[in-house]
Amino acid sequence: MSMGVQDQRPDPNPAARRPARPGHDLWPTRAARKVPTLGDFHPHPSHAMTLRLSKPLILAASITLALAACQRAEEAAAPAVAEAPKLAIDLANVAQQPIAFRAEDLDPGVQACQDFNGYVNGKWLAANPVPADRTTWGAFPALGERSLQVQHEIAKAAAAGTWAAGSMEQKVGDFFAAGMDEAAIEAAGLAPIQPDLDRIAALSATSEIPAYLGQAYASGRGMLFGFFAMADYNDSTTNMAYAMQGGLSLPEKGYYLEDREDFKAAREAFLAHVAKLMQLAGADEATAKAQAQQVMDFETRLAKASLGRVELRDPATRYNPVTLAEADAATPNFSWTQFFTAIEVQAPEKFSLATPGFFKEFDAMLADVPLEQWQTWLRFKAIDGASPFLSKAFEQANFEFYRKTLAGQQEMQERWKRVLGALNGSMGEGFGQLYVAQAFPPESKAKMEQLVQNLMASLKVRLENLEWMSEETKAKAIEKWSTFTPKIGYPDVWRDWTGLSVDRGSYAGNVMAAAAFNTRYMLDKIGKPVDRNEWGMSPQTVNAYYRATANEIVFPAAILQPPFFDVNADDALNYGGIGAVIGHEMLHGFDDQGSKFDAAGNMANWWTDDDRAKFEAAAGKLADQFSGYEALPGLFVNGRLGLGENIADLGGTTVAYDAMKRAQGEGYTDPMIDGFSQDQRFYMNWATVWRIAFTEAQLKQQLQVGPHSPGMFRAIGAPSNQPAFAAAFGCKDGDKMVRSGDDRVVIW
Ligand SMILES: [Zn+2]
Repeated sequence: MSMGVQDQRPDPNPAARRPARPGHDLWPTRAARKVPTLGDFHPHPSHAMTLRLSKPLILAASITLALAACQRAEEAAAPAVAEAPKLAIDLANVAQQPIAFRAEDLDPGVQACQDFNGYVNGKWLAANPVPADRTTWGAFPALGERSLQVQHEIAKAAAAGTWAAGSMEQKVGDFFAAGMDEAAIEAAGLAPIQPDLDRIAALSATSEIPAYLGQAYASGRGMLFGFFAMADYNDSTTNMAYAMQGGLSLPEKGYYLEDREDFKAAREAFLAHVAKLMQLAGADEATAKAQAQQVMDFETRLAKASLGRVELRDPATRYNPVTLAEADAATPNFSWTQFFTAIEVQAPEKFSLATPGFFKEFDAMLADVPLEQWQTWLRFKAIDGASPFLSKAFEQANFEFYRKTLAGQQEMQERWKRVLGALNGSMGEGFGQLYVAQAFPPESKAKMEQLVQNLMASLKVRLENLEWMSEETKAKAIEKWSTFTPKIGYPDVWRDWTGLSVDRGSYAGNVMAAAAFNTRYMLDKIGKPVDRNEWGMSPQTVNAYYRATANEIVFPAAILQPPFFDVNADDALNYGGIGAVIGHEMLHGFDDQGSKFDAAGNMANWWTDDDRAKFEAAAGKLADQFSGYEALPGLFVNGRLGLGENIADLGGTTVAYDAMKRAQGEGYTDPMIDGFSQDQRFYMNWATVWRIAFTEAQLKQQLQVGPHSPGMFRAIGAPSNQPAFAAAFGCKDGDKMVRSGDDRVVIW
């Protein structure tokens, strides 16, 4: 669940150039909607805050840490030595967002048993419309906004100070200053990407395209298929290269192919967008129009050959290990051997070449699409991907199409927010190092560790007592439970950013340098051991995730705020908020995808056939429940697409509720805050977390792209299956919020 994030940063390349963010997250990031969903975490190359250090770098890092420790000791002994300047901001300058649960926001005119989302959230949402510079508003986006405000204070202080060259403060300060220098960006025009455009123009035969693509991928500008390093599904201790479908500019294949009025309009708008960019880059109107059609035809072929989102949920469809010889045979016009040489990666024995239908079509297109059309498409992708960092006309065109037309955002965000978006995309974890120093109190970590332990204990009890599962499968489930690894706040080991140069000269130059740097880091992981210290999200991200290949649950610092988490709040709010989020991430380990990975993080079937059949049947019922929710007139939630999230919500809230009860212990007296019981407040905060309004276009996009069901349905879906909810609010069979008898689903 990362809806706030999606709104806060311009996607540096809306064209799905980059592979996805961590897999099973709580809430959708923008990137998640732009790229094929990978069930497992893998880093975002230009967001790559999690890249593995090579062994010499680890050694160097530990030496540096040792030295730093010595230095601190010396400084303590000799206080006369001048201290290095320290970045400091005043958090009092950043207002809290008015999003924490408050009893006065409840709507007494709505019955909790009929419309629980309306009861908890209706009044607040009516009073807090979606801001013009966003496409959603509610708990996640509001916390995202607060995170941005904190980041802004840090970036301004970094830009105003004087720092050691190469320090994180210098890199952040210069990146931000260059991004704010609109005069320099305007003067540069198309110059930052001219060398790339020249290379595309100089191609003289389609046989040269594979070499060009290799070069483009090596510098972080890969755009046709996803290519990334990730733990091998069959050996989770080692990183493997994965290639899979990509290349689409529109959010999902349905936008190209489905016979829907809104998608037809999106296609018309896309043609106009391509033509506009081509004209801005120098083409005359007639040529630009013809080129737009070429781009559309090109991408429509890719879309037809692509798998849909539901098909991609099965880890097996994303994993297809082949030898280089087999890969080369599968795409006779594209040599993977040469590709590995071009990206300067030692050719592996095997890599995963998934979505074979897509690569077959790609290969055919190398043979039958004329060179000139290839050049048009490559040129468009180069300009489109760089537009957010170029002069005003390009940035405006990018906003008009991707944000306004496709997502319903009325106004461009202020420049500082856009620049922070780029900064997060380029060096998010490095920036996060400055963020946690200012904005993450150590007592939060201690309290969270305690909550996680309580949730773990409750989950074990549930697993042991599941009525539908055999002892044999149960033993395996508990084995998997025992290897969960929680990560809280920020990484124990920060990534080393040595080698990335940032200066005030060129904004686009900094973004491209970071993309190349991050891609190199990512590519260097191929064939090497997995580093389980790494994180797939920056600490300033309002989200959380589960990674199946490491069986880890991860909670960045920025989500540890109200309504999710408050050190000073009572148990009901913390267990209904972050407690349920912790449960959600754990239960991803047992959802339709996570349940196909074992305790070691390998893709393996640890189920008996009979237990698996029962699991599938219950999951199918839950999918059907969500498919019954109508989000817009005639448009329903896709329960199969959101299945993993909804299994995680159902189990996550159950386990969090159990944990709250355990924490209360014997002889507990309910404090009845504001006249509400703990159980009521537990569920009311769960719904507060999912408080959300969408622009219509954004809602349509989320329904199409998934995997997260819109928050208003997550607020009610799990509670409607839980007797504890009905009891808390005195609901009866027949009420809309009550599923009883055979309609009720229990999975975990
Ligand atoms: Zn999730």
